[in-house]
Formats: sequence, C-alpha cells, structure tokens
Amino acid sequence: MLKSHSCGELRKGHIGVKVTLCGWVDRRRDHGGLIFIDLRDREGIVQVVFNPETSKLCHEVATEMRNEYVVRISGEVALRPPGTENPGLPTGEVEVIAQNTDILNPSKTPPFYINEDIEVDESLCLKYRYLDLRRPRARKNLLLRHQVVKFIRDFLDARGFIEVETPILIKSTPEGARDYLVPSRLHPGKFYALPQSPQQLKQLLMVAGVEKYFQIAKCFRDEDTRADRQPEFTQLDLEMSFVEEEDILNLLEALFISMVGTIKPEMRLIKPFPRLAYTDAMERYGTDKPDLRFDLEIRDLSDILASSNFSIFRSAIAEGGKVKGICAPGCGSYTRSQLDELNKLVHGLGAEGLVTISLGTSAGSLSDLTLEGVRSVAAKFLTLDQVKQMAERLGAGMGDLLLIIAGKPELVNKVLGELRCVMGSRLSLAEPDLLAFAYIENFPLLRKDEKAGRWEPEHHPFTAPRDEDIPLLDTSPDKVRGKHYDMICNGYEIGGGSLRIYTSHLQRKVFRLLGYSDEEIEERFGHMLEAFEYGAPPHGGIAIGIDRIVMLLAREDNIREVIAFPKNQSAVDLTFNAPSSVTEEQLAELHLCLPEE
Ligand code: ASP
Repeated sequence: MLKSHSCGELRKGHIGVKVTLCGWVDRRRDHGGLIFIDLRDREGIVQVVFNPETSKLCHEVATEMRNEYVVRISGEVALRPPGTENPGLPTGEVEVIAQNTDILNPSKTPPFYINEDIEVDESLCLKYRYLDLRRPRARKNLLLRHQVVKFIRDFLDARGFIEVETPILIKSTPEGARDYLVPSRLHPGKFYALPQSPQQLKQLLMVAGVEKYFQIAKCFRDEDTRADRQPEFTQLDLEMSFVEEEDILNLLEALFISMVGTIKPEMRLIKPFPRLAYTDAMERYGTDKPDLRFDLEIRDLSDILASSNFSIFRSAIAEGGKVKGICAPGCGSYTRSQLDELNKLVHGLGAEGLVTISLGTSAGSLSDLTLEGVRSVAAKFLTLDQVKQMAERLGAGMGDLLLIIAGKPELVNKVLGELRCVMGSRLSLAEPDLLAFAYIENFPLLRKDEKAGRWEPEHHPFTAPRDEDIPLLDTSPDKVRGKHYDMICNGYEIGGGSLRIYTSHLQRKVFRLLGYSDEEIEERFGHMLEAFEYGAPPHGGIAIGIDRIVMLLAREDNIREVIAFPKNQSAVDLTFNAPSSVTEEQLAELHLCLPEE
C-alpha cells in the first residue's frame, strides 16, 4: 500500500517509528516558520509538522497544500512538546515530523466545511454526498451499518440460516404500496415490477425445502418519502419452515438483545420484549407503534363521567363514544396560549376540542385538592370527587394537567396517541439511550377500505388467519385475527411478519375475499397457488427494516443519515440527478412513447 499506518492509529507507543501516511488535509495552519497540517483518513486525524530545518523541500510543498488535498507524508512520530497536546484528539499526544511529502491530488474548495460539524443545506449535502460522507458523523453511521449487517449475518449463519439472493426484476409482489415498473425490451408492452419485498420468493424457497432463509434484501415501494421511509430500502428478510410464532419472535428478540449488547453496550433494552395485543396498544397508546420509553398511558374515564353535568362528556358517551385522557406531568401551570396551542393541534387531528383540567400550579398531595384550585372550563360541571377519580385513574398529582378528549372511540385514541407523543417529546420523557423494543400481536387479518368498499389485508394477503377464526371468514371477516406480528421500537415499526397460508384452497379463499376475480388470481398469483399443491411446509417469517434499526442505534431521526446515497424528500437522487430523461431511441427500444408536452 501507499501507506504504512493510518492517521488515527498513532499513539505514544509509536514514538520514534518512521511512518508513511496518506489522507486528506483537514486543516492547515501556517505559523510563519512551521506549517501544521491535520491529516485525516478513515481512522481519524493526526497532526503533521513541516519544519523548514528538517526539510526545506517538504516545507515548500506544504505551503501549496489546501483543505481536502490528497497528500502522502513520510516522517517520524514524535511526542508533542509539553503544553501543545490536544486532549480532544485520540492521537493528541503525538505528531509526525514530515521528512518527505507529495501532493497526490489537489482539490477544489469544497462547497461546505468538511472539518466542522455544522448544519449544511441538505440538498448541497446530497449533491456532494461523497464529500458529506467524509465527515465523521456520516462515516460513523456507515461503519455502524456495516457492523449491524455483519452481526446479523454471523448470528443467523451460526443458527443454520442460509442467505439466498432473489431477483430484482420480478412480478408485482404486493405489500400495499405502488410498484416500480421496468418496461421489457424483449416483450413489447410487458413490464417487470421491482419487488416491494421478497415475500413470495421466500415462501417459494420454503416450498423448495430451504427451511431457514434470510437475505439482506433491497425493497422498492413507490410511496411518498418521509423521515423513516425511502423509495428503496433494505430489509433483513427471513423465513422458516416448521415453526410457530414463538420461534420467530424469540429468535429475533435474541438477535437484537445480542446485537445491542455487542455493538451498542451503552444502550439499554427492556427485557424480555413486552408483548401487546393490537387492540390493547390502540386503547392504551392510540397507535400500533407506541413509543414505550415513557408511560403517559391513555385511560378511559367514561365510567366516571357518564353522569357528569358537562354536556360534551355526557353526550359523547350517550352516543356510544368515549371520554379518555392522559396526564401531562408538571404542566398544571400552562398558560392560556400554551393550552390554545394544544387545542389547535387537537383540531388539526380532527377532534372537536380538548378539555384541559389543571390541578394547580405546584406539587402536593391530591387530598389537598379543592374545586377552587382546579382550572378548567368543565370545573363548574364536575364534582371534586369526579376530578379526584380522574386524576387517580391518570396517575396525576397536584401541579399536573389532565388532557381529555371526548368522541368516537377510534378518533379519541388517535388524537390522544398523538398528544401523548407531543407531550412526551416536549417534556423529554424518553430516556435517550433506551431502546424500547416490543411486539404487537393479534392484529385483525383484514381492514375495510371504506372508500373502495372492500377488504384490504392488514399485513399482506399471504398472512394466515388464526385457526379458530377461519370459520368467521365466511360470516364476519372483520372479526378474523391474523397470525401477524409487528416489532416496534421507540415509536417506529421496525418490522413485521406472519405465519403464512400454505394451502391453495385457503389462499384462494382469502384472495376472493379481497375482491380478486378468479382470472386475476390466476394471472397474478397462479404460481403461488400451484406451488402450494406440491407439498408446501407450514412456514412463517418476518422482515426487519435495516435502515430504521441503524437509525435508532445511531440516535438519528432520519433514515437518510444511515444510507450511503439516499434520495431526497421528492425521491430524487441529487448526486446522480435521477430520475432523468432518456433518449428517443431508448424509449423506442422499450416500445414506449411519452405524451406530447
Ligand atoms: N414481506 C413482509 C414485509 O415486507 C414481511 C413478512 O411478512 O415477512 O413487511
């Protein structure tokens, strides 16, 4: 190699050693006589000193150097003179006295400072992603991602899994999103679809007898980009034969406990991973991916308020609705404008209004509470006993604020779920180093798309219904629960999976229920139904979002930070400027023509 050592590895133990280093000029300081260069490579930074008395030539070359020049330097490692050590650098006790140097390649002035951790306009970062990736934060994230993927591969290999690659040019395999299509040159008018996941392929691998499959798989979904969503993303995709739900959940739990312990030992996990039924999660947290790093549970107050004189509460309950609430600890002194802001938020989420009950401005025992000390539009319609009962149910004390919503049960849950997140982050209730993994189970198999008036799979159409619920497929599909589970962490859905249907008659029945005609079933899924007739084993699996898990381990809040070349908010790759136009010839070869502008 052109270098003998890396910049970041040099320590006191190297004093006297002759080294050759290659890297980028991170910073250059000309002190008249001496020139100092902070030389950076992947492993870190070391100070290099150019002294005209050691080498006049070297010193002259160093005067030419600028930030981001690629240089090679040979010299001797020396102890820094006392008082000039840099405790902020791992190499800060030593420096390299340059004896020989050359510029391997100069650099234009970069469009942003690489050596300073300052916020840079995101479009600029993405256009020059290769420069952004030179910065320590991005480099740390790339390394972390590598460690995560390597850990997964080793862990699963040791347990008998084999990694199998599956095609990218394939047929639509539905996960509920829009497909990316690739026109076929050889078959005019026909298209491949990029896989939304390898779902059908991994099931076919089970029919093939692979038994334990995994893959670090690219998936493509043409959906709007969000902080936790990219048009293409990576999954740990996994499938096993002859298993029950417990086998899969326990395997993944062991994988993550062991991964975090190895790669991020400073982070804490809740062990064992809590399990929540879907309906429970919705009732208690208003979402199927609650952030369990803090409590603030939603509690039902309807029984306490059914006979209250406050008409909003009474009529909501009389109309079959609910009155539920959460407690915002220490927020009893919220001002009118702070309360108005919460009210606005709640309106934006579709609720009619928020009832707030302030339990005074300072802490103390609830037994000291008087109606005069309660601040709320509802106060004059409530008894002291009702307020105390509500406070107790919500785990509130003096000085706290009760946030209460009345209305249709689903809406009440949803709005309080959002409020819970807002208050959790406003009050910094989440322990930053906690990874609150949990499983959500017992999802309904289907959900009604009210607009289209048809059933949609809650997960995907290959998920098996619970055995005891199969008869309900004919009578009340809404009551059928699926053998489906999600893994969540800190308010994100990290992954999901299910035990699968493995007989063609049940699979056909579910497709029909989803509104596919027999011709459509044949055309789109005939290969699966046929495969299930050649001895398909019982099987199930899961897929975990690698980007999201790395994002949480890196304590980032956008998956773009952990993807080498991410797309921006509008699904554009700014480095390559993709998507882009193609030539008339290319279009013609693909048998495509675009409408006139
Ligand atoms: N294919 C599913 C998904 O991408 C995961 C699974 O069911 O294994 O969500």
